[in-house]
Amino acid sequence: MLRIFAGGLAVILATIAVSALIIARLPGAMVPDRNTSRTWLIEHATLFDPDAGTRQADVSVLVQDGRIARIGPDGMSGIDPDIPRIDAQGRTLMPGLIDMHVHVFDEVDLAAGLAVGVTTVRNMGGMPFHLPLAARIDAGRLYGPRLITTGAIINERGGRNTNLLHEVVSGGDEARAAVRRQYAAGFRHLKLYSNLSRESFAAIREEAAALGMTISGHPVEGTQDDPLPFTDTLPAHFGTIEHTESIVWHGLSDNTDPDGARALAQAVAAAGATVDPTLVVHENLARIVETRGGHVLRPEMEGYNPVVAGFERDTFDFWSRYVHEDRTQMQAFYEAFTGMMHEAGVRLTVGSDSGIMASPHGVSTVREIELLVRAGLTPLEAIRSATVHPADVLGLDGKIGCVAVGCFADLVLVDGDPLTSPSILYAPRGVMRDGRWLDRDALDALEAAGRQPSELRTWWRLGRHLLAIG
Ligand SMILES: [Zn+2]
Repeated sequence: MLRIFAGGLAVILATIAVSALIIARLPGAMVPDRNTSRTWLIEHATLFDPDAGTRQADVSVLVQDGRIARIGPDGMSGIDPDIPRIDAQGRTLMPGLIDMHVHVFDEVDLAAGLAVGVTTVRNMGGMPFHLPLAARIDAGRLYGPRLITTGAIINERGGRNTNLLHEVVSGGDEARAAVRRQYAAGFRHLKLYSNLSRESFAAIREEAAALGMTISGHPVEGTQDDPLPFTDTLPAHFGTIEHTESIVWHGLSDNTDPDGARALAQAVAAAGATVDPTLVVHENLARIVETRGGHVLRPEMEGYNPVVAGFERDTFDFWSRYVHEDRTQMQAFYEAFTGMMHEAGVRLTVGSDSGIMASPHGVSTVREIELLVRAGLTPLEAIRSATVHPADVLGLDGKIGCVAVGCFADLVLVDGDPLTSPSILYAPRGVMRDGRWLDRDALDALEAAGRQPSELRTWWRLGRHLLAIG
């Protein structure tokens, strides 16, 4: 007993020591000044409302305590003259972007996202550190996008695509226990993986419904002995089904026949499903093949987590030596099929898988918007997929992804019209996060912070995660 106690105490002390160490070494740009105002008058803006699809010039937006309090023409009366002002100089003011699929391994990932106007992320592989991190951000002690997270990825033991970081289960009882464990740890969203068995999948859905947890993830394929056809899983009503690539694999067995594809797109639409295509993930893979690995070395990869890069080295090496053209062709098909889903009426969201698969945080979110446009969405529809649709899926409509009275002041100021060229989103002139204003200099500092991931912090978090999922 005493030994257990002493062991527990040692772990607690070590935790405190290491936590203090790693937090103390965070880049200064990530720590807000306590006196930073959350009340502003933004003047001379061109207000872009993705929900209404309108752009309106000469608008002032009053932000009070981090929320939009008033919107009116420039010079509107009744504004306290002492309120600090931001001159938007006619630039476009719009809601911050929401990325529905990221992997955060380190605080600086959040800096990289915020630097390009990503003001909310959904982390799709929860680890113990994510919940306190989200709380630190919410309390204004750290700059970063609003952090929403699923629990650990749940997959079936022995499945074809399991990995070390998954919480693996064998059958219904263990699946139920995993859901309860995640709920007790504070998670409210579940991420399912492709190899779950029919029994585990059913148990997870039941338990999640009982606890009020949401389910998103890869299409669930069942086991080799008892495969689950893709269309049979549609009534499960996932928050989002992840990856066009996985739907094409599971629903079409990679068959690119357009008639079959169109029929599947219609089935997905008829089920009312929301799909998170993450086209940028496979684009990275195709680019790695096309450039013989050069794509992994592009400048944006400077802030890519070195621990993750280590895990992925063999994969990247494999694709760097792969000489076929089928990846480029499949990428074109994934984009075409995403366009078919959109045309059939499937609601799409922007997700980038940032943090893994050669997707750096921030820029990959904007790249995904560009790819949705290439798939056939208008720029307005693509931007809605990064604002209006995710807000609705997350149950935060009227709070994020919007520019109306009552919305959180998570805003982006850009040069020009994103409806003509979405690529201007790569370089915002300013970002407001929960009412705190970050000008271009502050964004540059965040971008620089985003290039300094810590191996020590990452290993520490991975270690704690492995202990938690046992
Ligand atoms: Zn992912």
